[in-house]
Amino acid sequence: MKSRWNEAEAKQFAGDPLAMRVYTSRLLGADEDLVMHGGGNTSVKTRETDFFGDPVGVLHIKGSGWDLKTIEKPGFAPLRLEPTRRLATLDTLTDLDMARLLRSFLLDPGAPSPSVEAILHAIIPGAFVDHTHADSVVTLSNNPRGERLLADLYPDCLILPYIMPGFILSKQVADAIRGLDLSECAGIILHHHGVFTFADDARTSYENMIGLVDRADRYIAERAPGPLPRADSRPEPLRLAAVRRAVSRVRGRPQIAMLDASPDGAGYASRADIEAIASRGPITPDHVIRTKRTPAIIPAEPGEGAPAVDAFADDYRAYFRAHASPGHTMLDPAPRAAVWKGRGTIAFGDSAKECAIIADIARHTRRAVQTGEALGGWQALPPRDIFDLEYWSLEQAKLAKGAGATPPHQGKVAIVTGAARGIGRAACEALAEAGAAVVGLDIDPGVADALRAHGAAGIACDVTDAGAVRRAIEQTVLTYGGLDIIVCNAGIFRSGERLEAHTDDTWDRSLAVNLTATQRFITAAIPFLKLGCSPTILVVGSRNVPAPGAGAAAYSVSKAGLTQLARVAALELAESGIRVNIVHPDAVFDTGIWTEDALRRSAERYGMTVEQYKTKNLLRREITSREVAALLSTLAGPAFAATTGAQIPIDGGDPRVI
Ligand code: ZN
Repeated sequence: MKSRWNEAEAKQFAGDPLAMRVYTSRLLGADEDLVMHGGGNTSVKTRETDFFGDPVGVLHIKGSGWDLKTIEKPGFAPLRLEPTRRLATLDTLTDLDMARLLRSFLLDPGAPSPSVEAILHAIIPGAFVDHTHADSVVTLSNNPRGERLLADLYPDCLILPYIMPGFILSKQVADAIRGLDLSECAGIILHHHGVFTFADDARTSYENMIGLVDRADRYIAERAPGPLPRADSRPEPLRLAAVRRAVSRVRGRPQIAMLDASPDGAGYASRADIEAIASRGPITPDHVIRTKRTPAIIPAEPGEGAPAVDAFADDYRAYFRAHASPGHTMLDPAPRAAVWKGRGTIAFGDSAKECAIIADIARHTRRAVQTGEALGGWQALPPRDIFDLEYWSLEQAKLAKGAGATPPHQGKVAIVTGAARGIGRAACEALAEAGAAVVGLDIDPGVADALRAHGAAGIACDVTDAGAVRRAIEQTVLTYGGLDIIVCNAGIFRSGERLEAHTDDTWDRSLAVNLTATQRFITAAIPFLKLGCSPTILVVGSRNVPAPGAGAAAYSVSKAGLTQLARVAALELAESGIRVNIVHPDAVFDTGIWTEDALRRSAERYGMTVEQYKTKNLLRREITSREVAALLSTLAGPAFAATTGAQIPIDGGDPRVI
């Protein structure tokens, strides 16, 4: 563990304690081995004047929802120091009352809620207090000889046994330090939880933290045997999709499943003792909120994903029954993480972002577990302690408040073809806004860049290359766990060729891109859609299907074939719960198809100006790509759950269609 202190950088913040607090908090946050994803907290005590000009002691403590890695001044909640400190003198206080009282001590009611460890920060001496959940220190804690190990390693620290965070932890520390002279104390070590350091200057408190954690790092490095096991992984996308469906079913909503098949992940999942060591519990109890106490174990053999997920859910219900008190509300029994034997680890969540957090914790956990095993045995806290944190009143209160409105496609995975511009790009954006993880395919090598700003990923791929499309589907499934929505949008349009002068190339290309490629795409996607959540196929047809125009035979025929293909798909796939619907847009001119030249020629054919041509429908309006995308997203959602085989015009009204 190296200090990241930089004197030149730090100098800028001299004389501004809160700015200095931001600086060293970010130094701690920069190291994942110290704190992760909102873990840990820091504070600084200042003397200020209040609104009336009266002097007041202030504890600026990290607010909830802020991460040390990126925290800024507004991320610190300014608490009146004296009443906060005084809370520790109470004999009892519920954590819900503590949270409410702390909010009432805020000097700024608009500030974020102060950390639940605020009282601790108030009673620990020193202007600056740093607190981390350092991997290496808790790894040593999670050892059968943990007490002895930490006592030997930290003779200059106050070491306290594990106790649940919240008011009772503050009481424990308050009792332990009462009457003690802490001027020679390098820090406070909390078993199975983390480390506190403190000093009147930011640098000393920070450097003490690094020094203490470095001792544990070195102890482990000197004794742990060599590098962790690594293995190659060949995960089967269909099996991953089946596991993801099973987890979504138990969770009651679609889940993203993010596979980590890295050599480290596969090495861990390939250990002979994996079942035993993976299910002993988390590094620290607070991880349970994101990961649950244990991962599901998915067997290496094919076809047994769903029973393994059900077995996890049964175990979870038994764990709840064993530890719950009246008034506890059971959380959903679905796993948040899994070990897939021989393949790697999987994170489950509502979004790719949530999965990435779980995956990070899983990565640190597997390292800690394996290191712990090598040092004499990984031994997490007993399930009772983990349960108490998982069902902590403060967490249950959040649950009662509800999660708010859920976006309609949250947890779903979508692929859109022809995604670099026009309707395809707008569809990617609309589906991503509605919560889906979206991958756009396009022959344009810039597709990934084109979609990044719209919240979607891109894969450059020629849709007429069936192998490339299959690989893109598999890549999508291996990234997000499954496939629920496909939008068949890629198409080309060459106008102005009457039949007597029709070129073979226009005909062949139109059918290859608009029709044959879509058939190959749908055929390749079906096995995954069968394992999807509310799976649906959306086909972008054309007004040309019900009302063809002269001079566009190849386009009209390919789109008519596409429509017939979609109708057959609706007939065949209904028994698998897959809906297939078609939209027939017209007058959408903000797409790649409509070059100025194509527009002029089409207008000429109708004997109109371009402006007249653009608004020649009954409603006298252009249709935007965004409007078509909104219709596609709505069609994929619950409003159309009972609709399949439908053809919906979005053309401003065409008398020939009506
Ligand atoms: Zn903590």
